[in-house]
Amino acid sequence: MSQFWSPLVHRLTPYVPGEQPKISGLVKLNTNENPYPPSPRAVAAMQAELGADGANLRLYPDPGADRLKEAVAAHFAEFAITPAQVFVGNGSDEVLAHAFLALLKHDAAILIPDISYSFYPVYCGLYEVEHVAVALGERLEIRVDDYIRHAGKCGGIVIANPNAPTSDLLPLAQIERLVAAHPQSVVVVDEAYIDFAADVVPTAIALVKRHPNLLVIRTLSKSHSLAGLRVGYAVGDSALIEALDRVKDSFNSYPLDRLAIVGAAAALADREHLETTRRAVMKTRAKLVADLESLGFEVLPSAANFIFPRHPQHDAAQLAAKLRERKIIVRHFKAARVSQHLRISIGSDDQCQALVAALREILG
Ligand SMILES: *Cc1c(COP(=O)(O)O)cnc(C)c1O
Repeated sequence: MSQFWSPLVHRLTPYVPGEQPKISGLVKLNTNENPYPPSPRAVAAMQAELGADGANLRLYPDPGADRLKEAVAAHFAEFAITPAQVFVGNGSDEVLAHAFLALLKHDAAILIPDISYSFYPVYCGLYEVEHVAVALGERLEIRVDDYIRHAGKCGGIVIANPNAPTSDLLPLAQIERLVAAHPQSVVVVDEAYIDFAADVVPTAIALVKRHPNLLVIRTLSKSHSLAGLRVGYAVGDSALIEALDRVKDSFNSYPLDRLAIVGAAAALADREHLETTRRAVMKTRAKLVADLESLGFEVLPSAANFIFPRHPQHDAAQLAAKLRERKIIVRHFKAARVSQHLRISIGSDDQCQALVAALREILG
């Protein structure tokens, strides 16, 4: 605390990211990173941009990141997405932040699930957006009817699909019901994990052309293995995108650097790499779920690159501590309704086997 802090800073409760330990040799299953390397084409594109002497870095990047917007539009060509329907930012966290200020800050409170990505209430605090936390159902599922009840009275809605940390998926028809019931407000669907949902990705980007109030936010951090590059994007009606651009150009003209623009564009173009890695993660997930169930864990159905198990006889915080003693890091949340769950990222097959072996030993 300091007398120099603004009143707003005194009131903030910042987000706490999962730790990035400085020690090596850990089995790191706590922040939903992808265990596989990114597309070699992305790496080559960044190396080419850097060149032998790095001379390109003298120059500012394209403030509009047009090349990346075109790559996003091309990635979703089947839904006839145009670059004018695409916004790009420094990680989807930045895209989300701009959406709160540009599209969700109205007089009425917005709706967010009581258990979801914990950055949402943090943005509400930063931008002074009132929110109502809508409780998940018995099975920790998002119940669309509980949102539709507020139709016409809310300032907007933000949900994650699949939800985090619960990992389950709302079918596209339910998303469309939600969006259609709120024509006066923006519905933000955060699809950070949707590439891990199914063989045919059930993305709400398919609904964008029918619903001008829908904004779908994506990241390259998870399914494209580029968490370190910091690239996220939004797809929605061009009027929504213009609002995001107005905020971005009032904040930072160059949120994406030269390497990020070319690397992300190349990663999106490499569909084969995405297919291979996301299917590998889904396959490992199925095996890990079966192994944990055989150890007595209850595992919520996962459409993400993490699972959210609980053991009826073992305290989750203690399990996390004992795993840590064995150099395996998973995430534990203290919120009452989920404090007996662990959030475990899907690692490589070897990492998941190490986890199962450690749990078998701990459970005795
Ligand atoms: C990881 C994650 C993000 C943030 O992604 P970045 O692009 O790395 O900022 C956003 N939303 C959810 C639900 C996430 O899990």
